[in-house]
Parts: sequence; C-alpha cells; structure tokens
Amino acid sequence: MVDLKRQYLKIKDEVDAAVLNVLESTAFIGGPDVQGFGKELSEYLGVKHVIPCANGTDALQIALMALGLQPGDEVITPSFTYIATVEVVALLRLKPVFADVDADTFTFNIDSVRKSITSKTKAIIPVHLYGQCVNMEPLLALAAEHNIPVVEDNAQAIGSLYTFSNGRKAKSGTMGIIGCTSFFPSKNLGAYGDGGAMFTNDDEMAEKLKMIANHGQKVRYYHEMVGCNSRLDTIQAAILRIKLRRLDEYCYARRQAADYYDRAFKNHPKLTTPYRAPYTYHVFHQYTLKVEGFDRDLLVSKLAEKGIPAMLYYPVPSHRQNMLKEFTENTNYDLKVTEELQGKVVSLPMHTELTEEELHFITSSVLEILG
Ligand SMILES: *Cc1c(COP(=O)(O)O)cnc(C)c1O
Repeated sequence: MVDLKRQYLKIKDEVDAAVLNVLESTAFIGGPDVQGFGKELSEYLGVKHVIPCANGTDALQIALMALGLQPGDEVITPSFTYIATVEVVALLRLKPVFADVDADTFTFNIDSVRKSITSKTKAIIPVHLYGQCVNMEPLLALAAEHNIPVVEDNAQAIGSLYTFSNGRKAKSGTMGIIGCTSFFPSKNLGAYGDGGAMFTNDDEMAEKLKMIANHGQKVRYYHEMVGCNSRLDTIQAAILRIKLRRLDEYCYARRQAADYYDRAFKNHPKLTTPYRAPYTYHVFHQYTLKVEGFDRDLLVSKLAEKGIPAMLYYPVPSHRQNMLKEFTENTNYDLKVTEELQGKVVSLPMHTELTEEELHFITSSVLEILG
C-alpha cells in the first residue's frame, strides 16, 4: 500500500545526518529539533501554535481533555472513520454520538450532524477522511449557532486546504478550536516511528494543551491538573523537519497518482472514482473507489493473487465495533450511507513513489478482473 523505502532513499543523506546529529547531541527529549519543527509546522499551516505530542490518538485525547468536558457529555463523530477518533471519546467517559457521511465525499453530512445535536452535545469532531476537508463552512456555522467547540481530526489530510465562499483559504486542521494530526509513518507527513501534534490559534488553549501533554504542569513538579505524558521524540522531530519541506511535493505526487487512476477508471460502470469537492484541495491519503455490480471482496482477493494490496478502510464502522457496544446497544442510529459505503469501498496502493509502470499494472489488473 505504501513504499517508504524509495522515499527514504531520496532523502537518506539528509535524514541520516539529522539522526546522527541527535545521537551525538544525546538530547533525546525536547531540544531545538522539537521546537524548530513546531515552529516550522506552524508557519506552514498558518496557525499560531503547534503542540507536538506522541501520536495522533493522544492528540485527540488531549484536545478533548482540554475542553473540560464532563462524563456523559456528548461528542458527535462520524462512524465512518478510524477507531481512534471515537475511542478517545469513550476512554474519557464521554458519549460518542454518530452522524452519517455523504456518499460522494465520505465525510460528515451536515444535516445528519444537525440532527445529532442535543443539549448535551459538547464537541464535534469532523474527520478529514482520505485526504480532503469536511465542508467546514456550514459545519462551523452550525457549531457556532449552538456554541459547540469543533476539534478537527486531521490525521489523514495534513497539507489539504479548505476554501471558504468568500475566497479565504485555510489549511486543514486550523479551522476548529483545535486541530489534531498524526505522523504515523504511512500518513502524508510520516515520521519513522510514532508522532502527533495539536494546532490552535487560541493562546489560552495552547497553554492548556501543553500542560496536559506534560503531566498537567507549567512549572516543573507543580501539577495543576491531571494530564498525561505525551511527547514527540527528538529523532522523529529531526526527521519531520526534513520531510515537512517536501510535504507539498509529496501531496502533489499523490495527486498525480490519483489522476492516473481517475483516467483509467473514468466512466467505468462498476467503479466510482473519488469525488473531489470544489471547496477542498484533496491530498489523497487514500485513493478510494466505490465498487458496484461486482463483488468487492472478490476484487480484493483477485488483486492479492497478483501481488497488489488493496485495503478496506475500514471493514467495520465504529458503531458496529464491540468496543463501543455500551453506547450503541440501545440506540437506533440512522447511518444508511455509512452502512452502504462500508460494503463498497476499496482503497488502492497510494504513496509518493508510484511509478507509471506500477500504476499501469494496478489499473489494468483492476479492469481485467472486473471484465
Ligand atoms: C491515523 C489516524 C489517527 C491516529 O493516529 P495515531 O498516530 O496512529 O495514533 C486518528 N484518526 C485518524 C482518522 C487516523 O487516520
């Protein structure tokens, strides 16, 4: 699905030198690379504060902790997402409430979010799934109308842009009160291990996020609130600084691969290529097709026979996970589109190093199998 080796070889000299530099400095925690990366990322995103942490799941957890929610408060999330989005809600003893997604964008259906709002709703988490932004303008308006904070799950869309109707552009993850991202190796900005970050334009919120990620302390050994221990490794920060300089190039390479796939599958009666919403710049964390009129799982196994990995993101939607039974057992969710998509979606290999030859092999194999 991803080829990290070829990408590494292109930046090997720089990366190796940066890692060696950290080893020789023996400053493994914090230091100039973590600070430098935070500053460079905040400049790239056009956001006031970047608070690095250990991974994307922690980023979401710390963001929710910083909102000061009470057990039982409701948090609206899509069910059609990676489990981390919902898991942190349950972990903090908050109540996940699932809204449906749109069949074309795979992201939040705003009407469904509206219907999910109650007097107990205390946060909304839009997930910029597969690399494109949720339609943030109507979502932010809806949230503002009810005074509900918005925390963006930007793990799959770093580098993506949103365009407001007045022409203003904002990077994904910088529109809600807090944005969260992951530097898991296969993400668009991937480290060589775990990593994550939170973004905010709010000074007070930035302080709070920093404190929570650092055992609830501002002054060492004086703990003002219950926090956790969530740091970005210095070695990972050093690597991320190098990769951040190439993030736009990496996103562009993914878009080029997506263009190739689109051309090959255009107008195919059994395939729907990913819709590119006009308000967002899609950075194709995943290239996800909808398969209709052909057994999707058969397509996956036939591709596997040819050595082509194809994946289901995700085979079981959150509201059907055993983990969340206590929240779903007695609730009748109207998640028609989520249920439908779950049986149709398939993601093809997507990374920055796909060659024309590989793309040709993948696309011709798909077309051959579909007949
Ligand atoms: C990857 C991912 C996360 C979690 O990130 P980790 O760094 O693996 O903890 C959260 N949400 C979404 C949508 C993701 O894709």
